[in-house]
Amino acid sequence: MTARVWQLRTSGFRKLMPGHIHLRCPHCGRKQSNMRRGKYDPPKAMLAETLCERCCVSLGALEPGVEYYDAKGNSVAEVTL
Ligand SMILES: [Zn+2]
Repeated sequence: MTARVWQLRTSGFRKLMPGHIHLRCPHCGRKQSNMRRGKYDPPKAMLAETLCERCCVSLGALEPGVEYYDAKGNSVAEVTL
């Protein structure tokens, strides 16, 4: 991902609080700052891209995938338990 694209995807979020993660919907671009981290969220990741509830419904996605990114926009693998 280029720095410019990454900047656009992370603009509009509040400052990330410890123990939290930002969420972005790749379909409609809706953003939610500082959501509680789940157990699958990698500690390095600051952004998780996953379909929001509205898009899940309109696309009929039952189990949407999640893409994680660190503060530099590098992809981070999901934690496997
Ligand atoms: Zn959405």
